[in-house]
Amino acid sequence: MYRTHNCGELNIKDVGKEVILSGWIQKIRNLGSLFFIDIRDYFGITQLIISKKSVKKNFFLGKEYLIQVKGKVVERLSKNYNISTGEIEISIDHIELLNSSLSLPFTIENKTDGNEEIRMIYRYLDIRRNPIKNNLIARHNLSLEIRNFLSKNGFLEVETPVLINSTPEGARSFVVPSRTHINKFYALAQSPQLFKQLLMIGGIDKYFQIVKCFRDEDSRSDRQIEFTQIDCEMSFVKVHDVLVFFEHFIKHIFKKIKNIQLDSFPCISYFDAIKKYGTDSPDIRFNMSFVELNDLVQKKDINFLKKQELVIGIKVERFQDNNNNNEINSFLKKIEKKNFFWIKYLYDKTLLYSKQKFLNDKIIKIFIKHFEAIPGELLFFSYGKKRDTRKELGKIRSKIADFLNLKNYKIFKPLWITDLPLLEWEEKSKKYKSVHHPFTSPKEEDIYLLEINPKKIRSKSYDLIINGIEIGSGSIRIHNKKIQNLIFKHLGLSQKEIESKFGFFIKAFEYGIPPHGGIAFGLDRLINLLEGNDNIKNFIAFPKNNYGKDIMINAPSFLEKEKLKELHFR
Ligand code: ASP
Repeated sequence: MYRTHNCGELNIKDVGKEVILSGWIQKIRNLGSLFFIDIRDYFGITQLIISKKSVKKNFFLGKEYLIQVKGKVVERLSKNYNISTGEIEISIDHIELLNSSLSLPFTIENKTDGNEEIRMIYRYLDIRRNPIKNNLIARHNLSLEIRNFLSKNGFLEVETPVLINSTPEGARSFVVPSRTHINKFYALAQSPQLFKQLLMIGGIDKYFQIVKCFRDEDSRSDRQIEFTQIDCEMSFVKVHDVLVFFEHFIKHIFKKIKNIQLDSFPCISYFDAIKKYGTDSPDIRFNMSFVELNDLVQKKDINFLKKQELVIGIKVERFQDNNNNNEINSFLKKIEKKNFFWIKYLYDKTLLYSKQKFLNDKIIKIFIKHFEAIPGELLFFSYGKKRDTRKELGKIRSKIADFLNLKNYKIFKPLWITDLPLLEWEEKSKKYKSVHHPFTSPKEEDIYLLEINPKKIRSKSYDLIINGIEIGSGSIRIHNKKIQNLIFKHLGLSQKEIESKFGFFIKAFEYGIPPHGGIAFGLDRLINLLEGNDNIKNFIAFPKNNYGKDIMINAPSFLEKEKLKELHFR
């Protein structure tokens, strides 16, 4: 028997028991005639006390050596109330080495000296550390809660294939050469999109799957080339039904996992989000929404701004209370020459402002009045072409929130963004591209725009944004063969291509396809957000690095000539 108990379960009630424990050595203290050893396993840490006499000569122990010990539970003299085993220790009469360890590349403690790279190479050692282990436990608990909730609500988990064909999900696919079918390739699924729709046609009614997806994109700290989706689909639903159900789902998760009661999710259209925040994934933990000033500028005849396509501003409350004045000032200085200006209204009522060549006290006062600004506040303005002006001010809004520490990771503010555009023009390929994917339904009232102004078509799509991060995205799907064909055509697919790539799918439309829609949430992002971390890698057991490499197993790697030959590469 390797153990009678684990290293996290013995306590004062067990005093007097004879026990056997196995674990890794976390710490050794040599007190002359005695050793104190902390051993650790998945469950916790237990202190051992061993007299030197009971240890054989030349018996060496070091950190992370794996030992098995036999002894008696005794009450500790100096207790540690921070851990559950802190009131006892084991007085050891027998110790056995199960395995030794090399000296460690980094310290295996809650706080480690290992950088990300070394921790990735020795990920199994990193996983021994509580922060990473606890993250994996948190992820497990989240997945379990998701499975339970969705199952209870009538969703069936169905596995869909990974080796499929390349689909137009918006990213590049990873491809896998076929050995048995010369010159042919599989593609790894970017998502189960087509299959979940086919399941609806198959009458499954409500589907979900916690599923790995693969996209050949540049990795970033918040994006992995293989990642996990909570993929869902429902039949006989409209946008409203999906939003109501999944708002309930997200609220349930936050309540169960974090004991947080979320407020109702606001719902704003893509167009309004861009107008108000300059981005389709606004962080609404803070306000600072855009105020459009073109009318004011015309009315007050402010020459310097009159000809601009758009003039917008934001008000930053309690700006003067910030603790990052130097950083902010150097930031304001850095962007001075761009299409921005700012007004600081100080507590002593002094007015400071930039672009003094074009502005004067009279103009400044017009803005102060318009914004109803009070001392201590900052007004920040952006002007120029509509799109850039909004985008730039959106970035600055977020930056100012960073400076003012407004992004409290313990506060969660979800919102739905709806009615995203159906298509966007891609300059490089000179083609329209789906904003979501080609199976997203246009809004009926906008279909006529296909021939006139495709960019203006709104779709029945929605994104769930929490704290400025896209956590989920989905849509009501097209369930009409004609419209699906039309969309494919507008994406530049010829009839032949439609037939070869999606013939099977379009065919299925002709056997009584139900109206349906769904959504997919990013599990890695969700758990990262819930746990207030800022690196999804810490929630993935074996993540890729920022260049898409697994530096532990050294993937990707070259294939041997023989294997290449087998796959028909010369
Ligand atoms: N398949 C979509 C995606 O991966 C999600 C959906 O539309 O349900 O983004």
